[in-house]
Amino acid sequence: MQRDLYDADHEAFRAVAREFVQREVVPHQQRWEAERFIDRDAWLAAGKQGLIGLPVPEEYGGPGAADFRYRCVLMEELARVGAASLSSGFGLQDDIALPYLIDLGTAEQKSRWLPPMVSGESIGAIAMTEPGAGSDLQGITTTAARDGEEWVVNGAKTFITNGIAADLVIVAARTDPAAGARGISLIVVQRGAPGFTRGRKLDKLGLHAQDTAELFFDDVRVPASNLLGNLGGGFVHLMERLPRERMSIAIQAGTSVRAAIDWTVTYTKERRAFGKPIAAFQNTQFELANAVTEVDVLEAYLDKATLALNAGTLSAVDAAKAKLWATEVQNRVIDRCLQLFGGYGFMMEYPIARAFADARVQTIYGGTSEIMRTIIGRDITGLR
Ligand SMILES: Cc1cc2nc3c(=O)[nH]c(=O)nc-3n(C[C@H](O)[C@H](O)[C@H](O)COP(=O)(O)OP(=O)(O)OC[C@H]3O[C@@H](n4cnc5c(N)ncnc54)[C@H](O)[C@@H]3O)c2cc1C
Repeated sequence: MQRDLYDADHEAFRAVAREFVQREVVPHQQRWEAERFIDRDAWLAAGKQGLIGLPVPEEYGGPGAADFRYRCVLMEELARVGAASLSSGFGLQDDIALPYLIDLGTAEQKSRWLPPMVSGESIGAIAMTEPGAGSDLQGITTTAARDGEEWVVNGAKTFITNGIAADLVIVAARTDPAAGARGISLIVVQRGAPGFTRGRKLDKLGLHAQDTAELFFDDVRVPASNLLGNLGGGFVHLMERLPRERMSIAIQAGTSVRAAIDWTVTYTKERRAFGKPIAAFQNTQFELANAVTEVDVLEAYLDKATLALNAGTLSAVDAAKAKLWATEVQNRVIDRCLQLFGGYGFMMEYPIARAFADARVQTIYGGTSEIMRTIIGRDITGLR
């Protein structure tokens, strides 16, 4: 089905993104995967090309491109070469960390933090999850206590995307241990703060080039002016911004399904068995037909949700549906595509193998599929 999501400006942006991907990503991808880390140069090059920091207003050095379709274009271009790790890093920066700073930051905070995030000199992260609390965010135990003109942060976070590379971390911490969800606030901790250390780069099933890490805060002192948003408002701030994060994950899912199908069509037309291309077998055609139908229908929903996000009307429930459906389709369809590659599909040098491994976490982070169903189910029934 013909999509009409993009206009000429988005396509011009696509040309820049495609050129960036060929020049700065493709030649380094294998090494990044092996080293479990993406070079800072890739971030700086993306900054130079105007590919990150998109929602940052012009007065803080950004293009002020709040239109989420530009992010969709970049995700499509990264998905075409299977660069899911870099895409999740950029997504963390543009769709998750930056909206907090832009929406909640004071003018002074924005002028301090935003310009280097547009240039790629500063990489952002958000630290909610702890060893003992993931889905149940109200269970976090990291604390931030006020001492004069400083916050003193203590605790540990885990599974943090961009965790090793991050220069600026938005930390969810308890500022009032007795106040439940109303006692959580967001505190910004920056690289170099004494007592702020990082654990190991976590050894993951997929997203190998993504530097997911543990973070430790041991009497870390930051200025009082590093409180982001309202004191005690952290939980509400997090909940308000989760729909954008979930859309980012959903789009990453949709784009990687589309790319996987393209690779599979190419491969099955080239690979021969029993005297003909395997694409000539009815089973292959049925599998591809199912896959294309799934992604066409998925894109129709995602395109609608993208325009709703742009208009500020995307509900948390509809974002949950987008994330639930897109990531489940992603895992289902990429698994079927991989099957059509035979033994080569199991070899990591084939992008389909990496896409399969990279897809698995998509139904887990940003809220699990079970939590998405809980959000949707409560909306349907009105019961908790
Ligand atoms: C690669 C990666 C990157 C990540 N990046 C970040 C990041 O940048 N920042 C960050 O803060 N976090 C990050 N996370 C953490 C991620 O968001 C959590 O892992 C996720 O929310 C699930 O939490 P958990 O791991 O504690 O699982 P748990 O909450 O312990 O869940 C375990 C199981 O129980 C189920 N479950 C839990 N509660 C319910 C319920 N009420 N009803 C039904 N089933 C339930 C879950 O669905 C799941 O199947 C990342 C995780 C990974 C793996």
